[in-house]
Amino acid sequence: MQTQLQIIPIPAFQDNYLWLIHNGTQAVVVDPGDAVPVMDTLEKLGLKLEAILVTHHHQDHIGGVKPLLANMPDVRIFAPRLESYDFPHVPLSEPDQVRCVDWLPVAQIIDLPGHTLGHIAYFMQLDHEPWLFCGDTLFGAGCGRLFEGTPAQMYQSLQKLKALPAQTKVFCTHEYTLHNIHFALTLEPGNTALQQRRQDTRTLLDQHQPSLPSNLALELATNPFLRCDSAEIREATHTQNESEVVTFSKIRELRNHY
Ligand SMILES: [Zn+2]
Repeated sequence: MQTQLQIIPIPAFQDNYLWLIHNGTQAVVVDPGDAVPVMDTLEKLGLKLEAILVTHHHQDHIGGVKPLLANMPDVRIFAPRLESYDFPHVPLSEPDQVRCVDWLPVAQIIDLPGHTLGHIAYFMQLDHEPWLFCGDTLFGAGCGRLFEGTPAQMYQSLQKLKALPAQTKVFCTHEYTLHNIHFALTLEPGNTALQQRRQDTRTLLDQHQPSLPSNLALELATNPFLRCDSAEIREATHTQNESEVVTFSKIRELRNHY
């Protein structure tokens, strides 16, 4: 049954993607910041929404939850245990494993404090490849801002993601990839994988295609926040004699002002 699964990005707001997984009749949506484009897509494709997965409490990730629930009271909602929500939900945190709907594999919950303190990811092993829904923690060639957590917390969260299988598909929630690549090239101009990714990303965007999903192998090769051990990055950030957390913190600070 899993081979019939499809996943599509629903564009919302300026640069968000709301990921919709479906099997032709039933659907699950991740981080529905806006209900309208989700409702439109469900109607267009003739799908019934069965579950909503939430990674963290920011409005552009949950703004559509209550309107969707009002229209479809049977929908089950899953959300981080360490954050508070004013809608009914199944609270999740590490090491929970949950089957959100019977036509998807079990999701392994990963705690990712940093962007927010309760932020979680959903990791699923499909037949053909693993999927990661990581909210605003990992972006194409970037990572989320530290609104609530410390650099050390975010660094540790990213270490957990680095340990996942390299072929994992990464369903990031914002189209920040090209700007992130330009920033990354200021730190690692000699990274040929990064140069190639700039070209590939430009081609996709020129064709009005999303640059996402990404995959972990590509992020490991090009994402500076996963490359705090790179000699070129450590030199560029003047942190050769510091811990990787210090390098991470410096990259995040530079990116905030880029
Ligand atoms: Zn956020």
